[in-house]
Amino acid sequence: MESAVLLRCPICNAVHTLEGGRNEYSKRDLYSSAKTHLRGHDLNEPKMAIRKYGIVSDATEIVVPSGKYRQLPIEEWRERDDTWLPGGSLFGGEGSLSAPESSVELSSL
Ligand SMILES: [Zn+2]
Repeated sequence: MESAVLLRCPICNAVHTLEGGRNEYSKRDLYSSAKTHLRGHDLNEPKMAIRKYGIVSDATEIVVPSGKYRQLPIEEWRERDDTWLPGGSLFGGEGSLSAPESSVELSSL
């Protein structure tokens, strides 16, 4: 089993995974990844910032069987429907893994 960090775009539902555990990435890393994708949405700066923070605060660590790892959208953002994700990693579902840290993080920015 291997871990990955899953990011999801709230606008188009595209998903992107980063190799490794959540604690291997700084907020800055995650923001830059989110921003890469959000550029395609043609948002103004304030909206971009809000979406960026939202994506990062919803970032979830997932655990994937090694054999499935290559099927994750590691290289780039992909349509949710075009990619494979392990069951239970959907956002907002039962046993949501979203961290309650987001409000604290936001106020410090
Ligand atoms: Zn998007």
